[in-house]
Amino acid sequence: MTAAPDLLGPVVGFRAWRIVDRRLLSPHIPVRWEGRTMHAACYPANRRLTFGRGWLSAPHASPHPECKCGIYAYHRPGVRSWFGEFDWVEGVVGCWGRLEAHTDGLRAEQARVEGLVAPGDGDASRRVAVQVIAARLQVPVVARGELEDLATQVGAPLPPALLPQSGVSCRTDH
Ligand SMILES: [Zn+2]
Repeated sequence: MTAAPDLLGPVVGFRAWRIVDRRLLSPHIPVRWEGRTMHAACYPANRRLTFGRGWLSAPHASPHPECKCGIYAYHRPGVRSWFGEFDWVEGVVGCWGRLEAHTDGLRAEQARVEGLVAPGDGDASRRVAVQVIAARLQVPVVARGELEDLATQVGAPLPPALLPQSGVSCRTDH
């Protein structure tokens, strides 16, 4: 594709985080979400995690079509929401800036947490941690069944026409 289509508003995405010390962490790379909004960057340390495979070595803006960097989100909730022994939480993000579209999800230049899912009743410590995080970020905590309703208030999913091909670039400035 030669021209990057402009989208009208934030693209909604679903993702999960690890919870460590009542903070959100990216599940696969050592990045802590200090605030509500995360800006993508291609960290040299990430390349070492996979011995450089799939990562660009030359400096570039993130996300890049030929790299693995960017903020990951899925088009649908629950695609990947379990991380072994770690505490984790699902949530919804609004994504904007440069976007790399993939079949199951996208990589974004900017993403903002818009809500977190309350853990089940049997998991008291994790429920408290999610409440503390949500209060700090000033985002709602919703039941799992309310996640898609919340998502409709955040934005629209990527248009289906962009999804079948992996690696389509597009952008939205809102
Ligand atoms: Zn990169």
